[in-house]
Amino acid sequence: MDYQHNFKKKFGQNFLNDDNILNKIIIESKIPEDTLIIEIGPGSGALTNKLKNSAANVLAYEIDTDLKNILTAKFHDDKNVKIIWDDFLNRDIAKDISEYDNKNIYVIANIPYYITTPIIEKIINSGIDIEKIVIMIQKEVGERFSAKPGSRDYSSITVFLNYFYEIKELFTVSKNCFTPRPNVDSVVVSLERKKDQIRAKDEDKFFKLVRDSFQYKRKNLRNNLKNYDLEKIEEVLVSKGKDLTTRAETIDLETFIEISNKLF
Ligand code: SAM
Repeated sequence: MDYQHNFKKKFGQNFLNDDNILNKIIIESKIPEDTLIIEIGPGSGALTNKLKNSAANVLAYEIDTDLKNILTAKFHDDKNVKIIWDDFLNRDIAKDISEYDNKNIYVIANIPYYITTPIIEKIINSGIDIEKIVIMIQKEVGERFSAKPGSRDYSSITVFLNYFYEIKELFTVSKNCFTPRPNVDSVVVSLERKKDQIRAKDEDKFFKLVRDSFQYKRKNLRNNLKNYDLEKIEEVLVSKGKDLTTRAETIDLETFIEISNKLF
């Protein structure tokens, strides 16, 4: 390590120390020409340093101002790297990227795990056309993201993410590749924006329907959705060979969309 830093658990600081893993993230991200990369949590800049050579621009958000000396020393000559010293979750991302006119926008980051879901929700809700997200996350969370209907890990976040993105687990990363060593293994996942996904007519109501369906994991759809028009829901389920005694974890994305479009 070529720097001194007091690692902060509260910011989820586990820095990557393995050059092979960093290179693999870059290769697997397949960054096209003229791309703006948004990085959340550059830390000591190990990934940023690779990104700046593979992308037109890098815009990084770092909450920990104790890293200013390290990052400024590393990137003061790099015109294509900008660091915003703030909490990513509080930013107006659309405004932050308005000065860039790159053709593509990717998010590539080894993110702080304690805010994995808020980060992804923020990206999706920003309304910006982010074509691909390549992020390192906790292995168990990665399994939930890419779970198939019928499996234990299939949940409302799976449906939510699969509505927008094609999700792939790229590779796993051992605890030993980080300083300090975390308690959990990690996985790098890629979320590629779906272009031809059938849409729900009312997306807000669709997402609420999905959340409500999974509200009590052990309850079936009849019980979790008792405030909805059960007759209409049943009609769709029967056309799929199912009924209201089914649990949400067996319902695929397309069926949820069909139910939603029947109801709203
Ligand atoms: N990218 C670096 C690497 O791979 O070595 C560091 C990754 S570390 C897991 C997560 C980083 O996110 C830390 O530098 C931490 O300070 C930063 N961070 C935590 N919460 C944040 C937030 N809300 N907004 C921006 N950065 C945050």
